Amino acid sequence: MNNLIMIKYGELTTKKANRKLFINTLTQNIEKMLSNENIEIRKDQVRMFIKCKNANKIVSKLQKIFGIHSIVIAYKVNNNIEDVLKKSLEIMDKNKQTFKVVTKRADKNYPVHSMEYSRRLGGLILKNSNFKVDVHNPDITLTVEIRNEGTFVYVDEIKGAGGYPVSVAGKGLLMLSGGIDSPVAGYLTLKRGVNVECMYFESPPHTSKEAQNKVLKLASILNEYSGKIKVHIVPFTKIQEAIFKNCPDIYMITIMRRMMYRIAALYAEKIGAKILINGESIGQVASQTLDSMVCINSVTNIPVIRPVACFDKLEIIDIAKKINTYETSILPYEDCCTVFVPKHPVIKPEIEKCINYEQNFDYQTLIEDAINNIKTVTNFKEEEFQDLL
Ligand code: ATP
Ligand code: MG
Repeated sequence: MNNLIMIKYGELTTKKANRKLFINTLTQNIEKMLSNENIEIRKDQVRMFIKCKNANKIVSKLQKIFGIHSIVIAYKVNNNIEDVLKKSLEIMDKNKQTFKVVTKRADKNYPVHSMEYSRRLGGLILKNSNFKVDVHNPDITLTVEIRNEGTFVYVDEIKGAGGYPVSVAGKGLLMLSGGIDSPVAGYLTLKRGVNVECMYFESPPHTSKEAQNKVLKLASILNEYSGKIKVHIVPFTKIQEAIFKNCPDIYMITIMRRMMYRIAALYAEKIGAKILINGESIGQVASQTLDSMVCINSVTNIPVIRPVACFDKLEIIDIAKKINTYETSILPYEDCCTVFVPKHPVIKPEIEKCINYEQNFDYQTLIEDAINNIKTVTNFKEEEFQDLL
């Protein structure tokens, strides 16, 4: 195992106990995400070291793990300066022009002092390449760490995903539809260290198997940042049909969303989720005006986090593209919201009216029934989604 990956932690809270929790959770998450790789992990309060063979492959996985500020690939060579030179020239980007050498001597018995070593290696690089020295503003900073077991050389820091390690903040339940917004909301919440589980409301036969697979595909993409995603699929047909039969057109969406909130809140309590998360964005559609939000949210006291509430659609799309959910989100399969959409949904719903309409049918029994029949998916088999993409 010739390569050493060094990890600097992301946003750490200063409290000692938190720091320990942060580092331990990050270690567990890394172990889980890299469980198929042959690695050795060592850590201290400031950095983590991963010994491995195929550094590039490991780094691309590490870049999706929250709680990592930056990643450095250090290459191990013999303490012989000729070997150090050879490796340095290999990793210095030929498109860049200037460099400086920084030497750290962890092995204090090494006979050459740091400054002198930097000068000697710098001289050899000058002689064997077209690079020029610039000690004040170099394009490349070549760092050399001389240790007992060998010398490590590295050039750049690779940016990590930032945020907090998934799970340090506890658990949340994400209302995950097949749209663009909710996967982005999930990603942003995972980034704050929340262990996200997902809930999807389906209404077969009004919604298709493809619509469900699309949601599972989105969950599998989020799972690359988490490794712990579950999708709880709620059978929602009877409730939607009852709303359709018993409530005026313009209130259908408002009441449907109140039912979703009720179910999600009850289930959150059952699985120990402290918050609900969804992809609502202020003013995006009739059910997301402030009046609608008040009316819908009034069915529960559980905090509802709306990470994209204040983003423009184009800003949300930018993130969706970056995290690779966009192409799946825009597939055409109908969601239960789109199937039962009235022409003119109310934009200033009144809570009293909702309560009255809801008395037209026994929604409590229907909700209990739906919760009792939730199916949970934990394994995302790619074969099932392939034909979608
Ligand atoms: P889009 O990205 O096109 O806006 P959307 O899924 O966000 O689609 P909305 O009608 O805006 O659709 O719904 C608002 C939020 O409600 C979603 O972001 C999601 O969190 C939740 N939601 C809507 N439909 C469902 C569903 N079938 N299952 C789970 N959550 C849903
Ligand atoms: Mg939306």
